[in-house]
Amino acid sequence: MRPDLLERLARANAERARQALLRRVRNVECIDGRHLVIDRRRLLDFASNDYLGLAAHPAVCEALKKSAANWGVGATAAHLLGGHRDEHERLEHKLAEWTGRERALLFSTGYMANLGVLGALLGDGDICVQDRFNHASLIDGARLSGAELKRYPHNDVEGATRQLRARADKPALLVSEGVFSMDGDRAPLRELNDLCRDEAVTLMIDDAHGIGVFGKRGAGSVSESKLNQRDVPILMATLGKAVGVGGAFVAGGAALIDGLIQNARSYIYTTAMPTPLAAAISSSIELIRGDDGMRARLHANIARFREGALERGIHLLPSDSPIQPVMLGTSERALAVSQHLFDAGFHVPAIRPPTVPAGRARLRVTLSAAHTWPDIDRLIAALVNVAAREPAMV
Ligand SMILES: *Cc1c(COP(=O)(O)O)cnc(C)c1O
Repeated sequence: MRPDLLERLARANAERARQALLRRVRNVECIDGRHLVIDRRRLLDFASNDYLGLAAHPAVCEALKKSAANWGVGATAAHLLGGHRDEHERLEHKLAEWTGRERALLFSTGYMANLGVLGALLGDGDICVQDRFNHASLIDGARLSGAELKRYPHNDVEGATRQLRARADKPALLVSEGVFSMDGDRAPLRELNDLCRDEAVTLMIDDAHGIGVFGKRGAGSVSESKLNQRDVPILMATLGKAVGVGGAFVAGGAALIDGLIQNARSYIYTTAMPTPLAAAISSSIELIRGDDGMRARLHANIARFREGALERGIHLLPSDSPIQPVMLGTSERALAVSQHLFDAGFHVPAIRPPTVPAGRARLRVTLSAAHTWPDIDRLIAALVNVAAREPAMV
């Protein structure tokens, strides 16, 4: 008899639940500044990617409202069919200028940007070498493209070198995140650049968690490493994290952007980003570029958390980014600790496989410029409390 697909799916879910791997949507009933309300409980939020506290900034909200009043909300069509408005055009120029690139192209999400770039660039017979910890959208993009995908151990430049040299005759793309989304550490960007130059390989960096956070005027980790368009010809970043809105862009030379406009299917076959979002993003970027104080507050908060946690014996990974994982090992333990923190008034979800490798479940604590030092000190105290019950944390 033919197996039933929905029954198979339900069985897989039951199995996930048994292994403490079931994912769950939590409904947020209200957000107000650093707090959110779930199940009528007001929690301090340490899970947001709104690193600069811009998602609800009055100027950003005002830009969105004004644009909606002028343009309406929906872009009404794909970019190539009348959906590309002045707001999108101005934003693309601003993104190119900010990141020191010739051109930039907007995508509706980061997931789509990565699928679009890898699909446009790669095909059968090519090779795509990626860090093992790269985001799912990068892995999926390479798989869909038909290229041969090779994953090197995390931040292991020698491993990447061996993989590339084994296929020295093939066109190759090396892809890494600039700041790793689950570990918070950084890629060795200069070494990767040297390798790609020596091996004639194209380098792509996904700076989703670096843009707005690192570099002069928040231009990202690639800019901070002084790598220009020749060094990193494909720069991708998202606009829904530190920028606080949503969407993504790819920046690089004219040949790259023109090629994406012709070939990136997730750019061509989708409705352009709603116009007011482009206006909100522009406003947010103006704030980021004009105020180093927000970034200074964020980095002071990161330092406060690290110093306080390490002093109290909480084990942290080496990360200077807003992402500060507390490693717990098993999924069961990560869930239990996350629940203890919830009960104590903190929102810090557990991150489990397959998002992270087996045995590396964790709390993913994220910090924001909006947190106060008392917020951070309270979280550390709560972690210390839980650690008394969970010795693996220290
Ligand atoms: C969040 C993220 C994406 C996806 O971006 P969305 O705009 O949320 O789709 C891509 N790459 C990395 C590294 C990310 O962290």
